[in-house]
Amino acid sequence: MSSPLRADVFLAPAIPAIPPFPIPHAIPPLWTPTAATLISSAHEAILVDPLFTTTQATALADWIDALFPDKRLTYIYITHGHGDHFFGLSTLRQRFPNATAVATEGVLKHMEQQISPAGQAVWETLFPGGQIVFPASPPAEALPAHDLTLELEGHKLHAVPAGHSDTDDSSFLWVPDLKLAVAGDIVYNNAYSFLAETLTAPLREQWIDAIQKVRSFRPETVIVGHKTPSAVDGAWNLDATERYIEMWGRLVGEAKDAEDMFDRVRREDPDRTGEFVLWWSCLQQFPREGNATAKA
Ligand SMILES: [Zn+2]
Repeated sequence: MSSPLRADVFLAPAIPAIPPFPIPHAIPPLWTPTAATLISSAHEAILVDPLFTTTQATALADWIDALFPDKRLTYIYITHGHGDHFFGLSTLRQRFPNATAVATEGVLKHMEQQISPAGQAVWETLFPGGQIVFPASPPAEALPAHDLTLELEGHKLHAVPAGHSDTDDSSFLWVPDLKLAVAGDIVYNNAYSFLAETLTAPLREQWIDAIQKVRSFRPETVIVGHKTPSAVDGAWNLDATERYIEMWGRLVGEAKDAEDMFDRVRREDPDRTGEFVLWWSCLQQFPREGNATAKA
């Protein structure tokens, strides 16, 4: 009998970011805490989403070393192309040179865009001063579309393309043995969802379809990309994220500008973390003159 799998989550704490305009009510600009997941068997492990800044990636690598000094990291899987989930690859690769970074073809294309000069410029504006070391190109290998399976000592894990969620071409990793989905940014846990690339009703519908795709596997645990640190990653966050996207669509029809949208969302849903992401989303939904926020 093969050994059972286990899953561990590393959560990088909130870090300061530079917003294009100050956040209303003098709220400190902080990037929402971001998760990396380690799925492991007796002797091997697969890391999902190698985080962002060099500080975060170094802490993640130290954590892996301390947790499993004797396990071999075989793959690093990237759920979606946003840099805050994969720029840490440059550090992780130094620390685990035998691990192969992999992603779906769509995610890999997005990653290439993020490490292009234009993509780097956006992230440098938000996080200046050499906090990020951008991975070399190509940042990962594309999984063949006809076989999106990763193997962990005989256990199969499945990469599942899910289309648009908080960005285009997102995916999640399904771990059948644990009835667990590593959902990236398809699902948020008590954190304001990033809607800056989901500005129309059809795109909001596509995101809800992506949530439904995760739901269709009947997961018992849904690991999210961004969360309130103390919040448990229950499958109920599928419904909660869907409700949030629907609320957003309703409030877009009622708000008059970015500030008004910001206040309305916080009135209806005050307990979430990540006002930076909320403000950025409001600025994209209600653009104004001199809005320097480029698409990440
Ligand atoms: Zn993210």
